[in-house]
Amino acid sequence: MRPAKIKNKTSAGGVVFRRDGTEDKVVLISVRDRTAWTLPKGAIEKDEKREATAIREVAEETGINARIVTSLGSIAYWFYKRTENAKYHKRVYYYLMEYLSGNLDNRDPEVNEASWFGIEEAIKKVTYNGDREILLRAKEILKRL
Ligand code: ATP
Repeated sequence: MRPAKIKNKTSAGGVVFRRDGTEDKVVLISVRDRTAWTLPKGAIEKDEKREATAIREVAEETGINARIVTSLGSIAYWFYKRTENAKYHKRVYYYLMEYLSGNLDNRDPEVNEASWFGIEEAIKKVTYNGDREILLRAKEILKRL
């Protein structure tokens, strides 16, 4: 077989939080198969700022309007797309985002499930280590907010 092409892709997303009594709650979503729990994110469109992508994708995927508090940095991972025989190197920029308004019932129907979790539970629940790393950074910042 031909050697795989290498392609790059960049997305942006967020850790949406809500202060609820003593513990901070954050939103996780489950796309595709209900087994992978992850953070809302999506592709950065042409001429779009990363921050704008994060706000737009959070609104689309979760039904929630949120404002950016600070950057949480980025993670990177690889995946292979068979239909293109391409190896994708993907980078995702994340932001800590405070809940303003909206309801998880208004999310994109392609998102199977969306739910608020206590931050400790969310750290255990996420499928990918990159997401866990981002949630740990969020937890450290939230401690001081
Ligand atoms: P986007 O939501 O940015 O538009 P997408 O839905 O097209 O992206 P990804 O969510 O990046 O694509 O998924 C592509 C592949 O990477 C899938 O096989 C998925 O399981 C895997 N994947 C998704 N998120 C991560 C992650 N944080 N770490 C490692 N692998 C991941």
